[in-house]
Amino acid sequence: MSDQKRLVIIGGGFAGVTLAAKLEKTMPKDWDIYLLSKTNFITYNPLLPEVIGASILPGHVQAPIRLILKRTRIRMVTVDSIDYQSRTIHYHNNRAGSLGFEQIVIAGGVQANTEMLPGLNEHTFPLKTVGDALTIRNQVVERLEQATIHPDQEERKALTTFAILGGGFSGVETAGELEDFLCSAQRFYKNVEQQDCRVILIHGTDRLLPELSEKLSATTLKNFEKRGIEVHLNERAERVEKGNIALKSGKSIAATTIVCTIGTTPHTFVDDPAIPSQRGKIVTNPDMSVEGVEGVWALGDCALVPNERSGSFSPPTAQFADRQAKILAKNIVAKLRGIETQKFSYKPQGMLASIGHNKAVAEVFGVRFSGLIGFMLWRGIYLLKVPTLARKVRLFLEWNWAMFFPPDIAHLGFKRSGED
Ligand SMILES: Cc1cc2nc3c(=O)[nH]c(=O)nc-3n(C[C@H](O)[C@H](O)[C@H](O)COP(=O)(O)OP(=O)(O)OC[C@H]3O[C@@H](n4cnc5c(N)ncnc54)[C@H](O)[C@@H]3O)c2cc1C
Repeated sequence: MSDQKRLVIIGGGFAGVTLAAKLEKTMPKDWDIYLLSKTNFITYNPLLPEVIGASILPGHVQAPIRLILKRTRIRMVTVDSIDYQSRTIHYHNNRAGSLGFEQIVIAGGVQANTEMLPGLNEHTFPLKTVGDALTIRNQVVERLEQATIHPDQEERKALTTFAILGGGFSGVETAGELEDFLCSAQRFYKNVEQQDCRVILIHGTDRLLPELSEKLSATTLKNFEKRGIEVHLNERAERVEKGNIALKSGKSIAATTIVCTIGTTPHTFVDDPAIPSQRGKIVTNPDMSVEGVEGVWALGDCALVPNERSGSFSPPTAQFADRQAKILAKNIVAKLRGIETQKFSYKPQGMLASIGHNKAVAEVFGVRFSGLIGFMLWRGIYLLKVPTLARKVRLFLEWNWAMFFPPDIAHLGFKRSGED
């Protein structure tokens, strides 16, 4: 019988992978570290809008976890449930399996909530995974191809109208990327007029990018208006129908392609009556331990982690997930050694959003940047943060290479031989 004990991390995203990397150096040798994740790669989500706009390839935003972690035992499986009483995780891949644990960390992130509004599931494209980004990119190219050969001008215009729900980071970046892509791709489609390619952004409050200062929100709005991106502020969708968004104000907006960047929900295995939760998210103690069951921790988007510094829960961002992982690694080891754990406390260093046309808005250490300088800062920071040296080099080359060549308008045929 082995005396080895088991710490299991569920989730191979920002939180889970950063935590495992830190623990590999500090976890006592009589502990085995396991990481269970649906995918065997980490997705660099902030760059997904660039995949839609064909500015980068999907491989640039995915890094294989096995290249990052050495000591951790990686299992590409989907967790179905956790039995906290018998301390067993139930999962499946091609068959069902289970794994016992002494310590467990839940870092499963969130998924798109396609049930939030009527019609969302049937008529919109969520943006949460690389698959979502590629599907949207394919849809945009397909619409251009359909429009250029459609005999009716009004129908052509309808085909090239794209709406985005949500004016937060992913919505704004998607709108900017999409407009950029349509501007440069349109010249290859003789019957598609540039002025008929419409990008519409619908946002529920009075300013875009509410996480940034009012000045940068205003800069973004001005930039979008100048480029013809139609922004509807203080408007919320009530339901979505085929080719139409019905707003709560009574208005409606017609668009044949609707991208949804709002609404998330935790995975079902996260919401468990054995542990405290609010709207499906795990409520943690200030040190990220979970009340009620010994040896349970949670962090990242699936958790509500109190931030000592702000006095409120941490927002669901990569920056917070990364920082929480670093503190949690120390807390787990401290707990095993019987030392006092520390409360999570963090002041964010800044926020950045790319708005297309080689421009970005950024607020770093309280200093505001916009335009080309903001864009260079945005690229520089993301280049530093993207995992693995190989990805950094590939991304750097791709970004520079793409500046000198036409946009990639290839429709990525996902079909297998024999399918129409
Ligand atoms: C389009 C987009 C743009 C964004 N832009 C920004 C930005 O500009 N700046 C910023 O700070 N943040 C941004 N974010 C948010 C950021 O990506 C998240 O806050 C961050 O990824 C949270 O990390 P996490 O590890 O908690 O979750 P994730 O990174 O989502 O990782 C969750 C992991 O859990 C795994 N998992 C889920 N369910 C199961 C299961 N049942 N079994 C096994 N494994 C499972 C998943 O496969 C995944 O590996 C963006 C997000 C999106 C979607």
